[in-house]
Amino acid sequence: MKDNPLSQKIKKASRHTSQEEGLIFEKSSPGKRGFELPPLDVPAADAAKLLGAQHRAQGVEHFPEVSEIEVLRHFTRLSTWNFAIDLGMYPLGSCTMKYNPRVNEFVARLDGIATEHPAQPQSLSQGCLKILRLLEKCLLEITGMDAITLQPAAGAHGEMTGLLLIRAYLEKQGNARKKVLIPDSAHGTNPATAVIAGYEVENIKSESHGQIDIARLREQVTPDVAALMLTNPSTLGIFEQNIPEIAEILHAKGALLYMDGANMNALAGVTRPGDLGVDVMHLNLHKTFSTPHGGGGPGAGPVAVKKLLEPYLPVPVLTEKPDGTLALDAHRKDSIGRVRAFTGNFGVLVRALAYILAYGPGIRQATEDAVVNANYIRKHLEGVFDLPYSLPSMHEVVFSDAKQKKNGVSTMDIAKRLIDYGFHPYTTAFPLIVPGALMIEPTESESKEECDLFIEAMRSIAEESATNPELVKTAPHTTRVRRLDEVGAARKPVLRWKPA
Ligand SMILES: *Cc1c(COP(=O)(O)O)cnc(C)c1O
Repeated sequence: MKDNPLSQKIKKASRHTSQEEGLIFEKSSPGKRGFELPPLDVPAADAAKLLGAQHRAQGVEHFPEVSEIEVLRHFTRLSTWNFAIDLGMYPLGSCTMKYNPRVNEFVARLDGIATEHPAQPQSLSQGCLKILRLLEKCLLEITGMDAITLQPAAGAHGEMTGLLLIRAYLEKQGNARKKVLIPDSAHGTNPATAVIAGYEVENIKSESHGQIDIARLREQVTPDVAALMLTNPSTLGIFEQNIPEIAEILHAKGALLYMDGANMNALAGVTRPGDLGVDVMHLNLHKTFSTPHGGGGPGAGPVAVKKLLEPYLPVPVLTEKPDGTLALDAHRKDSIGRVRAFTGNFGVLVRALAYILAYGPGIRQATEDAVVNANYIRKHLEGVFDLPYSLPSMHEVVFSDAKQKKNGVSTMDIAKRLIDYGFHPYTTAFPLIVPGALMIEPTESESKEECDLFIEAMRSIAEESATNPELVKTAPHTTRVRRLDEVGAARKPVLRWKPA
């Protein structure tokens, strides 16, 4: 490691492990084994004779030959290269990277939960079905909706399910319609979803405070419009204030209101989308309700609906018989069909229920703490970083790099420099309506002390951007690798090792 350019004023400067670790193939030496079997005490069978020589491989070419501890050390070392919520603050805006309470893991691993098979008879699955039923009831209470499906595996999958429900409902009325309206402050998955569900996307421009322009909306809701997809709080981290009026405008023209509820961490226990006029919404259990997030899943994106969409929910639908037993009903004539095998990602659903039950009504406190943390950070960084939209922040705050840009320092540079201070970067360059965005979401997991360290780091980087911009522009300086070719990594990934 060369010079350490970290400011000495900063209390926390946790270093990334920097040991080099080659490929496991490079550790290989012929004849090494990770195990040893006792000598045979019976005559050896002739595998070639039993199987036929053509079925017998002589070994796997270039297969690494290593000892047990070499395997263990190799993967343990690699695991230390990852950043994780268990290592430090992960303020990735729009992602809600919160602490996953360990009790969730304990519950999900219990016998009778972890070991059940989804194909076993329903009479033997009553306990698991009860877990699903209770989770449905909790989520309906939190959202204020009438019915729900737990099947979708992620937020975007929930969006697609929601739009297919809208399409099925409108088709039943005789016309599926053509367009879905999406504000420019919506999450990027929304337009992608609308297109996959067979709709044209029409953009709605936000007014200067980042709210939907109601006058424009009235003009845009034509008989062609199937729905509006509203991200609330929007990707600016601010609450859309006119939802009941927006719902009325849509309903008057026979269109529906979809709410992207992935940001429910700002609302749970405080307000209910169902009470505001929302017809259909998804939740991200892997955000608001903990469950492991990051590293690609698994997740869960339940979709909650008002009564009018209930007949179209994916099968099987969980139903309660008069005697209290639960059943999975696969025969519903108007259903859009299955969107996921069995009943969804059961292990994730169990974890989310454990989280909800552990909090109980205290879920409101979690929400309030998340909002307080975001606003605490906002208050201490306002003036240091440009704040393009000034309405009150909810669970995240969006700054821009306008001040630092004057010295040639961009949001990406600041994010990379943040790594040197021991934090995972915030979300860069999103939402798109804020050029050079810094999108910061601390979640309720972080203590005041941790928020203070983050604020200190950000202020220090702002100072460096003025006094020594090169330092920031060439960050990170303390990691194993410096700036990677991110475009190259996405376009030409090298996923397989081949011998030279
Ligand atoms: C994360 C997110 C999504 C997408 O959820 P996935 O589980 O990643 O598919 C959609 N909308 C918003 C607002 C989000 O934050």
